[in-house]
Amino acid sequence: MLNGNASFHLHTIGANAASRPALGGNIDTDICIVGAGFTGLWTAWWLRQTCPERSITLIEAEHVGFGASGRNMGWISGKPIGHRGRLAQNPRGDAAVVDLRRACIEAVTEIPDLMRQHGVEIDAHHGGYLQFARTPAGLARAHATVADRESWGLGEADLRYLSADALREHIRIDGVLGGLYSPHCTRIQPAKLAVGLAGLLEARGVTIFEKTPALNIAPGRVTTAHGTIRAKVVLRATEAYSPALPGHRRAIIPMRSSILATEPLSAAEWDSIGWQNAEGLYGAEHAPFFATRSEDGRILIAGRGFPYRYGSAFDQNGRIDTPVVGALEQGLATLFPAVRPRIAHAWCGIFGVPRDWAPAVSFDVATGIGSAGGYAGQGLAGAYLAGHTLADLVAGRGETRWTRLPWTNRRSPDWEPEPLRWLGARVSYHLFRAADRSEQRSLTPKTSRFARFSRWLSGRP
Ligand SMILES: Cc1cc2nc3c(=O)[nH]c(=O)nc-3n(C[C@H](O)[C@H](O)[C@H](O)COP(=O)(O)OP(=O)(O)OC[C@H]3O[C@@H](n4cnc5c(N)ncnc54)[C@H](O)[C@@H]3O)c2cc1C
Repeated sequence: MLNGNASFHLHTIGANAASRPALGGNIDTDICIVGAGFTGLWTAWWLRQTCPERSITLIEAEHVGFGASGRNMGWISGKPIGHRGRLAQNPRGDAAVVDLRRACIEAVTEIPDLMRQHGVEIDAHHGGYLQFARTPAGLARAHATVADRESWGLGEADLRYLSADALREHIRIDGVLGGLYSPHCTRIQPAKLAVGLAGLLEARGVTIFEKTPALNIAPGRVTTAHGTIRAKVVLRATEAYSPALPGHRRAIIPMRSSILATEPLSAAEWDSIGWQNAEGLYGAEHAPFFATRSEDGRILIAGRGFPYRYGSAFDQNGRIDTPVVGALEQGLATLFPAVRPRIAHAWCGIFGVPRDWAPAVSFDVATGIGSAGGYAGQGLAGAYLAGHTLADLVAGRGETRWTRLPWTNRRSPDWEPEPLRWLGARVSYHLFRAADRSEQRSLTPKTSRFARFSRWLSGRP
């Protein structure tokens, strides 16, 4: 089993090393974007439309797609992004949050269509997503999600409840009680999207430097070890990596998520599981648990283990700890006990979580500095839309569909200083696990009070 090496996605397409030069001295550019993940890439893409006359330079500490963008589960999904109540604290209130969800749903088909139009293969499969419940409390939460759909302006065609039998027609999971289905999810190979998008940008005159970490960002200037970039506009797209930059230590925390990719399953194994439509799959448990069927017939299974490292430390090129591999393998065995595929690759990545679990897209006209991020694990649709907003803000377009979204120029509070941050994350992690154990033993549909307390403590929606 390969462990780390950024990710299976990057590794299999040979995109896990720099292939572009680093910055070679001082330069001037109109717009400098820091970070070549989806936020940086989509922002450059939309800026090409809103400001075609301005020069754009993207700098990346490692290589295109090195961060979460090249390591994720590949779901472009129409699930809500961020904490609804906190995002609703904007001049347009909840209507703006509903607009954001609607835009995410549209992104599910727009992104693959756009790539198809430009000849970029991203292994897109529009299969929707399924949630499954294995406890009465989990089932009650699935029912509650469906009951809430009208408040999002959604109907039966967008989200519906599935009985255990109806769910088994999609996929045969051990011990399932029921769940829900939504058609609003497209699975992609995310590294192919990052690399393809970077190629399209370069063909449109955007310059990308790799192996060029920004050491400092200031109005009109980005300092790197290879030279200084002078730019009227500087946009930070470093999401979970932001705490390493001066001035952003407590703005966001890097939350780790780990994935295993199995070897491809045999046709007989797929027959026993079903899952012919390759929906994105997730559990109704409190400890997040996701699975994907890949284009080449593997299962990708993701979970969080203990997700936070003291002092907001990062992983080492995606390497994960052996106990996390064991826990994910066990999780896979509980879903499909009849199949025991070999694990081909294990890796992890970090995504950015703001204190109030609500993303922000900001631009200060006075300093020319902007940023976007904090999608809390929902960044595929999120970054595409945030890039739209940021490009409109930079172009000074005033009120547009994208600048009216609830994340524009909002600010989240800082996280607590250490050791409180680490202690809070630790307590919250153990409470969610205790909640899952207690709900497994219980016959009542009531969500465990451990989970309610943990949500209050962590701020998680
Ligand atoms: C395991 C995992 C699974 C996920 N699954 C999904 C999913 O299925 N669907 C979904 O919607 N979201 C998912 N997410 C979240 C999603 O991947 C992220 O929200 C999204 O990719 C964030 O994009 P980004 O460009 O903002 O950040 P990143 O992709 O992290 O990019 C930031 C880039 O900035 C670079 N950088 C950092 N510091 C500097 C510096 N000082 N100078 C220059 N460059 C710098 C980094 O090297 C990195 O390449 C998942 C995340 C993880 C970790």
